[in-house]
Amino acid sequence: MSDQAVALLPDWLVPVCPEGRVLEAHAVIIRRDRIEAIVPADRLETDFANVEVRRLSHCALIPGLINVHTHAAMSLMRGLADDLPLMEWLQKHIWPAEQRWVSPEFVRAGSELAIAEMLAGGTTCFNDLYFFPDVTAATAMRAGMRAVVGMPIINLPTAWAENEDEYFSRGLQVHQELLSEPLVSTAFAPHAPYTVSDQAFERMGELAEEMDVPIHLHLLETRGEIEDSRKQFGKHPLDRLDGLGLLGPRLLAVHMTQLDQGDMDRIARAGVSVAHCPASNLKLASGICPVAELDRRDVNVAIGTDGAASNNTLDMFAEMRLAALLAKGASGDPEAIPAQRALSMATIHAARALGLDERIGSIEVGKQADLVAVDLSDLESQPVHHVISQLVYACHRRQVSSVWVAGEPVLSNGQLTRLDPAAISDQVRQWQRRLARTDAEANS
Ligand SMILES: [Zn+2]
Repeated sequence: MSDQAVALLPDWLVPVCPEGRVLEAHAVIIRRDRIEAIVPADRLETDFANVEVRRLSHCALIPGLINVHTHAAMSLMRGLADDLPLMEWLQKHIWPAEQRWVSPEFVRAGSELAIAEMLAGGTTCFNDLYFFPDVTAATAMRAGMRAVVGMPIINLPTAWAENEDEYFSRGLQVHQELLSEPLVSTAFAPHAPYTVSDQAFERMGELAEEMDVPIHLHLLETRGEIEDSRKQFGKHPLDRLDGLGLLGPRLLAVHMTQLDQGDMDRIARAGVSVAHCPASNLKLASGICPVAELDRRDVNVAIGTDGAASNNTLDMFAEMRLAALLAKGASGDPEAIPAQRALSMATIHAARALGLDERIGSIEVGKQADLVAVDLSDLESQPVHHVISQLVYACHRRQVSSVWVAGEPVLSNGQLTRLDPAAISDQVRQWQRRLARTDAEANS
């Protein structure tokens, strides 16, 4: 990477921290992987004469969006089966396809598709939960994308591991291998309370503390999960996790659609972060996460798309807009989750949930240069009275024109620099045929 600094000069700079701020006529100076300075444009000629200036006309520059919950490889199952209840969808369609096909090749092809989609849409980092996280990590690094890959834990045998012990040992090995990687890190990724044993939860609680990693868990996705937990363990899932030492700031709880007032107070006190996936929850009719009430309690809520098999897109602009709208509709309060809070939920809140807020999630001096330029020159973006409102309520991901991860341009004028969309497309077509065959066999 060149040592030469570059000054990015957008029409609007939206640093996210402090929330709601918009700077005009300001440049962001990036050198190598970092943000070196943020300066008024008129100082460029005097103080930074040797810096190459890149004018981003009609663009807003924002921090890279962070997709706090996804299953990247599942993008190969986008649209395979829709409009079904969660358990039927899983048992008749997703699990048969996974049993037959999940492998390093499948994960490589699916992750590449997801990464291409996410980078082109302004997402610079994703938090993943799937099998073969070593392959997802390698694919992200090749594409120049930042990622947190899950060390999956589930009490079911898969192509990745036979039992919980093996899930731990393989996951820990991946963690070791990635320790010195600048773009990729790990989290424990227990699938859900109903598929992970007490012993495994206790063990990962202790290890997460030692290793300083988050715990990324599907939690309280459906009402049935609470009834099942009472039958299986004699406890509400939150009581069980609390007893096992899991309710704390390391926990990133995904979905959380079944919360009463007491549950909300409890997770607020414990410092649990919530990954809100509104499109997936609505599509599977799981319930609605009470984001407005969590936000009022200062719970750190971040936004995720979930996998493309249940969304069906990995579009963080669409997810931000939906999160803001749904919070208002569900709470009856139009002031709930204003645009600037929705943008924080897709950036700095996500970084905090992943323990990465010292490095990413906002445009601040010293942080990694993960940046997104959004072109607001189209008629549908006019006029720009309030740029953050425009970004959250009116923008489409196709307006993302350039993306940098750790200072490297990974999307330049709408073109991916490291990935070949035509090659990805060919690969995906082959997987489409295989998956369609398996789905037909499983349901004949
Ligand atoms: Zn999920």
